[in-house]
This record gives sequence, C-alpha cells and structure tokens, in this order.
Amino acid sequence: MLLRVLVLATLALFASPLWAANCATAVEANDAMQFNVSNINVPQSCKSFTVTLKHTGKLPRNVMGHDWVLTTAANKAGVDEDGIKAGLDNNYIKPGDTRVIAHTKIIGGGETASVTFKPSVLKAGTDYVYFCSFPGHSAVMNGKITLTKG
Ligand code: ZN
Repeated sequence: MLLRVLVLATLALFASPLWAANCATAVEANDAMQFNVSNINVPQSCKSFTVTLKHTGKLPRNVMGHDWVLTTAANKAGVDEDGIKAGLDNNYIKPGDTRVIAHTKIIGGGETASVTFKPSVLKAGTDYVYFCSFPGHSAVMNGKITLTKG
C-alpha cells in the first residue's frame, strides 16, 4: 500500500510541469544596474534550486558586470566588502568565503550564468538575501529569498 502511494506520488511529480519550474528561476540584470525581481521564492521541498542570471544589457563585465550572490542578510555587507577587495579576477567574491552560499560568475551584457544550490542548507528563521557583488551595485541590486513550504 505504501509503495503504491509512493509510486503515485512520483508519477504526479513527473507529470507536473510546475514542479520543475518551481525549483528554478530566472533573474535579469540590465545596464541600468537593476535586477528585475526583488524576491525569489525557494520551495523547501526542492532537492536543488537553480538561478539563471541573464544580463540583458550591452555593457562589458568590467564596466557594468553583474553576478548573483546568495548569503544571509547579516553577512551581506561583509561578503560585499571582502568581494570588492578580491577584484574582478575573483568575480568580486573572496576566494573560499564560507559566508557565500551560492554565486554565479560576473557576466557582461548578453551573457548568462547559472548556479545551483540545495534549499536544505537554508534554515527557517534566518533572513537570506541575494545581491550583485560588483563594486557599488549591492545597495540597489539586491533582493530577498523567501523559503516556502511546497
Ligand atoms: Zn551588478
């Protein structure tokens, strides 16, 4: 009986296109130093969650580069500060920074980058944020991560 329920549940998961869509999202960044979303819902039931960042502008990565960095609200300022010191060669992320949960590389206009992380590493009750670590961008280019049951 239990096996039958599991099989049905598995079939339902594969049958639903929404299920897959819920475990991935796309974020756009532009030459006006903006992300197109200010919140990303991350379902806790996803085994992994993929964020694809698309730079819809034209400016090169050393002028108007963008990345997508996931950390806690409490660590955002520190990650940003150390990232700026690390420079473009390190994608403005301090090498080995354990405060960084996930990040893409810095991309320029027309480019795309993605990163996958496990929602299971996110704890309920902790505030998580994402931001762009290119120097001077984090104050404007940032948003919230909302953990959802689903
Ligand atoms: Zn940026």
